[in-house]
Amino acid sequence: MTVPHIFAPLEIPETLAAGPGPGNTDPRVLGAFARAGLADHMQADVLRGMVECKEMLRAVWGTANTYTFGVGGTGFSGLDCMLGAILPGDTVVAFVNGTFSGIDGLTIRMKAATREELRANALDPKPASVTIVTVPHGQSVTGEIVERVLAEKKPKWAFMAHWETGSGRINDLEGFSAACARHGAMGLVDAVSSLGIADFSIDDYPGVVGWASCPQKGVLCLPLTYAPVSFTDRYIAEVRENGCHSYVHNPVLEARHWGIVEGKDVAAGVYHRTHSGYAVAAFHEALRITLEHGRATKARDYAFHEAALREAVTVMGCEVTSNMTSLVVLNLPAALAGREKELVQMCRARGFGIWPTLSEPVQVRIGILNQLSEAAVRTIVLRFAEAMNEIGASVDLEAVGERLRQHYRALEAAE
Ligand SMILES: *Cc1c(COP(=O)(O)O)cnc(C)c1O
Repeated sequence: MTVPHIFAPLEIPETLAAGPGPGNTDPRVLGAFARAGLADHMQADVLRGMVECKEMLRAVWGTANTYTFGVGGTGFSGLDCMLGAILPGDTVVAFVNGTFSGIDGLTIRMKAATREELRANALDPKPASVTIVTVPHGQSVTGEIVERVLAEKKPKWAFMAHWETGSGRINDLEGFSAACARHGAMGLVDAVSSLGIADFSIDDYPGVVGWASCPQKGVLCLPLTYAPVSFTDRYIAEVRENGCHSYVHNPVLEARHWGIVEGKDVAAGVYHRTHSGYAVAAFHEALRITLEHGRATKARDYAFHEAALREAVTVMGCEVTSNMTSLVVLNLPAALAGREKELVQMCRARGFGIWPTLSEPVQVRIGILNQLSEAAVRTIVLRFAEAMNEIGASVDLEAVGERLRQHYRALEAAE
């Protein structure tokens, strides 16, 4: 028998998460995680915490949906739960305009595929019942596009990402919801990147029956906790009638642990799987922080700081193609085109965590999750400018710093 090699303790250095997500976790959240006493998943305060999280989540989503809770895991765990209602042979139209909606489209194709269709191409099935509408990278899904395709296809389900983080584009939620309602499609939305950043109430979009988000972006609770989801009664009735091929991600069964049983709130949840008291405490604190900040104020703060970052990189000769407020997606100046990955790698090696796009075309993504101050944005801008200069740009750091200062003074004056 070989002797197992025991590695040295894992040390992960402090980095500045300045990408599309995850954002740096608030010390209050980490504190809540570490302070939680050793408590099992049925201990009274853990269960109470889950019920309180559920109630706070309804406020964050802006909904009266009883079926609002967290799915243990990452954003795609919540999406898997939401998309689980799609069964083999179901008709679906999915609008794709970047990396993440592309993966959602794959999930949908896997779920809607018949057994034969899945066997024909197990990892990338192409079921006849699914229509993928691809909108070019850098463009938004518009209400007109959704209207046109839903009018023609009349699918059972329609899917769109609210904010497509891969290309940094905001899609037309109003138009999507209206087209779904008009053509009798049940709308499903990936709100992974918008929840906790945009100021919206999901009850204002009656064409959408299912919503899924994540722990690591706007909600800022990376210590792997919960992906927020919310479902209307119509969605839940569909799952009750037809079922779904999952115990753990079954929207009806998963809700029970959060104190949602038979469509009603109950005082404490019932066992579904072993939830973590640490995760519940962290998630609870993250939701408290979001509600303390206030949805509208938080959305305004993101827009305010994104505008400053956008102006600074534009002055540096970059071209911004995104319109989300948590990040900018940009093309480097022509002289540096093609060196995006090199630049990003160099920054990342130094603990400055920016990102390239994950699908073509290659662009740079710089984000401001939990970096909502002039000082934080200044640090991000100057570190990026220095890195650009190292690969051959000649950005005048002082001029950029001064532009940023003026921008903040002007924005403040306009407030
Ligand atoms: C980040 C992201 C995801 C994936 O979330 P994970 O937490 O990595 O699973 C899905 N959709 C969108 C729009 C995203 O921005």
